[in-house]
Amino acid sequence: MIGAASFPPCLQYPLCTLLVFDSCQNAIPVAWVITSNSDGQDVHKWMGSLVERIRAKDPRWRPNAFLLDDPSFKALTVREAFQCRVLLCLWHVRRSWIRSLLKKCYNFDVQREMFKYLGRVLYCMRTMDAIEEFMQIFVDQCAFMDYFRARWLPSLELWVNGMRTLPVSNQEPHAALESYHLRLKSKLFNELQAASWLRVDWLVHTLTTEFHSLYWFEQYTEETGYFRNLREGSFSNNSWYRALLIPDDDVIMDEEDLRIVKVFSLSDRGLAYTIWNPGSEFALCDCPWSRLGNLCKHVIKVGILCRNRHVARPSLAAQTYRQALLSLLQNLPDDPIVLDHAILHVTRMQQDIKGLEDLSNSGLLQPLTPVEANSQIADSILPLPQLH
Ligand SMILES: [Zn+2]
Repeated sequence: MIGAASFPPCLQYPLCTLLVFDSCQNAIPVAWVITSNSDGQDVHKWMGSLVERIRAKDPRWRPNAFLLDDPSFKALTVREAFQCRVLLCLWHVRRSWIRSLLKKCYNFDVQREMFKYLGRVLYCMRTMDAIEEFMQIFVDQCAFMDYFRARWLPSLELWVNGMRTLPVSNQEPHAALESYHLRLKSKLFNELQAASWLRVDWLVHTLTTEFHSLYWFEQYTEETGYFRNLREGSFSNNSWYRALLIPDDDVIMDEEDLRIVKVFSLSDRGLAYTIWNPGSEFALCDCPWSRLGNLCKHVIKVGILCRNRHVARPSLAAQTYRQALLSLLQNLPDDPIVLDHAILHVTRMQQDIKGLEDLSNSGLLQPLTPVEANSQIADSILPLPQLH
């Protein structure tokens, strides 16, 4: 179980959703929080009450991890309230970037190259150099650069710092979040209801009646088998669930050269889709669903395979950890008490890494980022030391 936040941009006030996953990897909303503060600073005011309400319903309830999609959220508050790991979620960064690229740049080759570079900006140790390089190379893409400067440049440091301090969740739950987000948008925030968007009473009413009943109906049909023909096809078909139906043999991957991977279509065996930048949050596929800016099942499937086969590079958090460890080994403290303290910290970190590996196996963590044979940043990244 995880919690996640969603902020439809058409609302004046943020709407946070607590989601859980069912056996088909669908994200089911179990609580909504509406606040008047959009910067996440008042999270401490409602987090405690939310935990109390949950425990009152079921004292055994324990989340595995909590995904934050806003680095300004106080991770410590969430961690203390839920007593679980907090992961940073890059889903809405990815979605905003790819959808803007698709709208503002007209050539697919340029779109995917820019998307790959944007990923490098986030994962590079020398962020400012990477941003400058990105803006120089694609200087002619004026419409996107104007958007990037205005919307992302001011908050990029916050995101990069977030990635250095929090582990990043992997893409499988992102696909379920996207499916929830699209459903929320289509059911609640369609143009017909635009006049009501500013009314909190309308939002509370619609969420707790119309929207809630959709999920109740899905669960009812699932449990009883009745009215299956009336279910919405999209509900059980989020990209995470659909990716699990693709056989490994349908993925053509050259582990020596991972610039592109091919995945055969399940419906048309003569057709294979191409995935660029595989294994990364910034992977892009040429299937119709991906070309709309969505996370497709092919990208998710390839991401799972890359992770399982360990054909990717350490995350930014792992790089930062490794550097701290190396500097500690190179400058061993003279004071035995300080040394004991440092060893204790390293031991705790090893336990944390073991816990994160367990989460990764359950699909809730992105431990690795992509391998690119000709990456310009490859030199700055070294393999993790063996820890025994
Ligand atoms: Zn695809």
